[in-house]
Amino acid sequence: MKSLIYRFYLIEIKFLSFFWALIHIIKARCEPLFICLTIDCESRFENKIEIEKTSYYHCFFQGSLKMNELLKHYSWHATFFIDYPEIKIFQNEENSPSQLIKILISDGQDIQLHLHPSLINSEKISDFSYYSRQRIREMISEGKKILASLSGKKITSFRAGGYSVGKAERIISALEDEGFVVDSSVMPGASNLHQAKFNFEKAPHFNWYHPDYRDFSKRGKAKIVELPITTIIKTNNNFASDFFRLDAKGIKIIKNFINYAYFKNRFKVITFIWHSKEIFDENGRLTENYENIKKTLLLLKKLIDSGKQIKVGSVEDFINQHLLMTERGRTI
Ligand SMILES: [Zn+2]
Repeated sequence: MKSLIYRFYLIEIKFLSFFWALIHIIKARCEPLFICLTIDCESRFENKIEIEKTSYYHCFFQGSLKMNELLKHYSWHATFFIDYPEIKIFQNEENSPSQLIKILISDGQDIQLHLHPSLINSEKISDFSYYSRQRIREMISEGKKILASLSGKKITSFRAGGYSVGKAERIISALEDEGFVVDSSVMPGASNLHQAKFNFEKAPHFNWYHPDYRDFSKRGKAKIVELPITTIIKTNNNFASDFFRLDAKGIKIIKNFINYAYFKNRFKVITFIWHSKEIFDENGRLTENYENIKKTLLLLKKLIDSGKQIKVGSVEDFINQHLLMTERGRTI
C-alpha cells in the first residue's frame, strides 16, 4: 500500500514539474525585446533664432561623435536623427555636418531625418500645424535628398523637432509620398510642448503601430509605422515631460522598467531618445547625462551577458527585423 501511495506522489510530482515547466515556457519571451537606440543631433537653440557656432561645435558635432565612440565600444548601432536645417546652416564650417555624417556612416551608424522647421522658415515657427501640406512635403523632400546624398543611404525614418508633428493628415501623407516607412515623433503621455499643439496622452506606448491618418496617437490605416518614443508614466499632467521618457536621468527607473517590460510579452520594443546636445555643455564639458548614458549601455550589456533575450539596434535594424519580414509591409 505504502509503495502505491509513493508511486502516486511520484506521478503527481512529475506532473506538477511538467506543469510548471509548461507555465515557464508560456511565460518566456516569444521573441527578443528590441531596444532601439536613437539620438537627435542638434545644437542648443531653444528660444533663439541664431545658433551660435560654439553650440553647434560642442552640442551637435562633438556630442554626436562622443555618442558614436560609446556605441563603438559595444559594437552597437543607433539611429542618428540629423537636424537637416543645421546641415544647411553649418555646411561651410571646418567641422561640418557632412564630415560628421561620413564618420558615422563609416562606423555603421544609421542616419535619418530630423527637422526643426523654425530654422528654415521666415515664420520661425516650430509647430508643423502652421505649415501647408505642400511646404511640409518640400521640407521633407529637401531633407531626405541632402541626407541621402551625404550618407549614400536611403532615408526612410523621420522624427519631428520637438515632437510637434502638427496636423497628422498633412505630415503622414507627405511622409508616405516621400517613401518614409517609420515615424518616431510620438511621445506617449505628452502634450503641447515647446509652444506646439499636439496630444499624445492616449497614444499606445508599448509597441509600434499604424496610426490613423487624422491622429498620430490612434491606431489606424496609415501605411507608415509609428515607433513611439518609450515613456514610463502616462499622465495627463505634463509639467515635466523629460522625466517620463527614457532619457538617462533615471538609471534606476530605466533598470526597473526594462526588467518589467522584459517579462511582459506585449512589450516588443523600447525606444530610447538621447540628444547630442546633452553630451557636452556649451563650454565643451562632459555632462552628468553622458555618464548616465554610459551606465545605461553597460546595464544593457550586462542584461544580454546574463542570457536575457535582448537585441540592441537602430531604427534601420528595427525595420529589417520587424517590418520587412511581414506581408505587404503591414505589421499589426
Ligand atoms: Zn530636435
